[in-house]
Amino acid sequence: MSYRHIRFPDSGQKISISNNRMVVPDNPILGFVEGDGIGPDITRAALRVWNAAVEKAYGGRRKVHWAELYLGEKASGIYDGDYFPAETLEAIKELIVAIKGPLTTPVGGGFRSLNVSLRQELDLYACVRPVQYFQGVPSPMRRPEDVDVVIFRENTEDVYSGIEYQSGTPENRKLAKFLREEMGVDFFEDAGLGVKPISPFGSKRLVRKAIQYAIDNGRASVTLVHKGNIMKFTEGAFRNWGYEVAREEFGDQTISEDELWEKYDGVAPEGKVVIKDRIADITFQLMQLRPAEFDVLATMNLNGDYLSDALAAEVGGMGIAPGANMADHVAVFEATHGTAPKYANLDKVNPSSLMFSGCMMFDYIGWREVTTLINEAFVRTVGAGIVTYDFARQMEGATEVPTSGFADALIERL
Ligand code: NAP
Repeated sequence: MSYRHIRFPDSGQKISISNNRMVVPDNPILGFVEGDGIGPDITRAALRVWNAAVEKAYGGRRKVHWAELYLGEKASGIYDGDYFPAETLEAIKELIVAIKGPLTTPVGGGFRSLNVSLRQELDLYACVRPVQYFQGVPSPMRRPEDVDVVIFRENTEDVYSGIEYQSGTPENRKLAKFLREEMGVDFFEDAGLGVKPISPFGSKRLVRKAIQYAIDNGRASVTLVHKGNIMKFTEGAFRNWGYEVAREEFGDQTISEDELWEKYDGVAPEGKVVIKDRIADITFQLMQLRPAEFDVLATMNLNGDYLSDALAAEVGGMGIAPGANMADHVAVFEATHGTAPKYANLDKVNPSSLMFSGCMMFDYIGWREVTTLINEAFVRTVGAGIVTYDFARQMEGATEVPTSGFADALIERL
């Protein structure tokens, strides 16, 4: 396909899919979107770290060839006011793997969230957020090292699907009349109305991905998080469909918590992933009191959104939390925080969220050595007290450095 403004570097090769598996060349073209606000600052810093770590890991045998793609304000400047150019979507599909900085979303009006549009257009149905502790990072927990979970949040359904009817509109009145007269339910006059679709298809593909991840990465358990005691036919159904996938598709590799206690006295047999479920509210509490009991979490959209930010706070906050939105193969890795506009172009914020999202991306393409190098260098850098402002204000005697300075210090320690 030919693009108006996007250029793929001639020297790189595209990732491809063969027999349902990704084939990654040693010179892959990966897409990146700089993002708005602090996006350019953190992207510049992270690109330098990634390139240095790849060079260090493979001594020139492997190299990423970056292709810049455009979304948000930068896209609007290039594509005559279009914040969400169709060719960027095409390029992501073609390249399969891309990474993006944060994008501005207007609150309560204006255009639709670009992040939500991206997830929907590319059907990136799983939002994956690993939450792990790095030695030296300031944390409010007594034992932050016990926090080591990967959240798989369903990205396309739930109250986020945009089926909402504003109070006082003809559509709202029509639906309210139907619900009252035909379905025999009641609620306060002029209530805004929203619909919460949770399907077997959406739930099962998310839980399938979470279980596969747990198996591939030697994780001990997958917990289905839900509020099924109250919302029985949506959240409760998610739980039931989750157990169904485990039983029907991963019967040899998984075991339910009930079976674990009935047959094995609570000790999982070698090679089996335990499938359990917990009510959402108690999960928030347990993740503070006994985080070691959790490993992979599979959640619906809203619960997962809350849980991701709450857990990120346990290990250093949004400045370092990485994430990705994934379809079966296509994956867009992203900083989990927003554009923090008050810090835009100040070379001030922490680039680690984007940098660690890049590590997820390298793991995803099988270049795990890059992640190991960056993780170790990060611990050495923070251990030396060299941090950006967000950590500096929580640490005694730290040396505060700008975004670019943090990247320099980390690269020195690779
Ligand atoms: P935000 O941009 O995440 O910023 C909130 C606060 O988080 C910042 O003021 C800062 O805290 C801290 N923070 C964020 N990134 C940081 C970093 N890299 N290093 C250190 N601290 C960091 O949230 P927001 O102000 O609610 O949202 C701003 C815009 O971003 C909105 O348009 C929103 O829609 C958008 N957004 C985009 C995404 C995305 O693209 N994925 C996600 C969320 C929000 P302090 O003030 O305490 O220093």
